[in-house]
Amino acid sequence: MIPYGYHWLDEQDVAAVAKALRAEWITQGPLVEEFERRVAAACGARFGVAFASGTAGLHAACFAAGIQSGDEVITTALTFVATPNAVVYQGATPVFSDIDPRTLLIDPSEVARRATSRTKAILPVHFAGLPCPMGPLEKMARERGWFLIEDAAHALGAIWRAPSGRWEKVGSCSHSDMAVLSFHPVKHITTGEGGMVLTNRPDLEEKLRLFRHHGIHRRDDSAEPWRQEMVSLGYNYRISDFQCALGLNQLGKLEGFLKRREQIALAYEEAFRDVEELICPFRGEGEARHAWHLYPMQLNRERFRVDRGEIFRALRQEGIGVQVHYLPVPLHSYYRERFGFHDGDYPHAEAYYQRAITLPLFPRMTDAEVDRVIRAVRGVVEKFRKPWISSKEGSLTLCNPKP
Ligand SMILES: *Cc1c(COP(=O)(O)O)cnc(C)c1O
Repeated sequence: MIPYGYHWLDEQDVAAVAKALRAEWITQGPLVEEFERRVAAACGARFGVAFASGTAGLHAACFAAGIQSGDEVITTALTFVATPNAVVYQGATPVFSDIDPRTLLIDPSEVARRATSRTKAILPVHFAGLPCPMGPLEKMARERGWFLIEDAAHALGAIWRAPSGRWEKVGSCSHSDMAVLSFHPVKHITTGEGGMVLTNRPDLEEKLRLFRHHGIHRRDDSAEPWRQEMVSLGYNYRISDFQCALGLNQLGKLEGFLKRREQIALAYEEAFRDVEELICPFRGEGEARHAWHLYPMQLNRERFRVDRGEIFRALRQEGIGVQVHYLPVPLHSYYRERFGFHDGDYPHAEAYYQRAITLPLFPRMTDAEVDRVIRAVRGVVEKFRKPWISSKEGSLTLCNPKP
């Protein structure tokens, strides 16, 4: 089975970890700091604070923004549950915005519509690796005094064109307060488990570090040099030195990984662009470089004589590890039950979900595997498409009269 995502480790990565394991420190040693510096530099941010996971980083970012019980945070309905869960961890309420059906990203007009006096922050997600419309989001956040925290777990290496015309890297935080990365194995680079919060603000950096280590403040106090005082509730969200050794080595390969991801995405687009049954993901149209964490294909369902499940199973049977990203968060039973969401609350995210099928995309995929996916998808389309579709006027036309 070709999975939808997979890490790529080589002997150099293994050697880097082995070297770290033989060194003096195995957790919170010099490699953590070096990894933080190097990732922050690669993204163009002043500070990076590494965490045990991207989820821990999101939680810490919510803490650093002062999000607490009674606050609302607006995020997108189309994301992994970790995004809104971080808000719930802080006792606050996630508010979901519907997506722009073309880009699959949070729709700023929806954000404006769902804002209340309790709104404290917006938490956009660069879904699949495509940067969100940061200009309008930043404007709203500035005007209303909200925090702007980017869930950049899908978008390490993405760039976008700011309203000023300047190209900005996701993670530079030039238009936001914080950005959160994940180093889970399916993401762009991996530390096994791991994550990082980027920021340009020293006050936020300090809070992030505090939260990572139990809320314990190391005071420089010569009268009581032993004294370490817990000043707020924190967690043990530390990452270890040998994980950062892996991350550092992976970081050196990021550009190559991004190029390969793009090549694969372009090969899919080339193959499927003219297939009426399929809708390829939006690429950014000269306004962004997509980081291609995922390839979220959509099925033009009206043109198939079977449902999405049948197509999904047929592809799995062919050894293509397709997936669906994601069930809109408000439709998870926990969110329905706890916050009272219903089917139909997020029409665009739900319509996307009904059509979505994620194709395998990871740098280690060979050309032969990419071809296998393309052939399998073509085969399934051939097999399950309706031979005829009816037009609006009720007449029947032959689908895809092309040979
Ligand atoms: C992967 C991911 C996370 C969290 O990542 P972990 O490192 O697995 O905790 C958060 N948000 C999104 C959108 C993700 O895809």
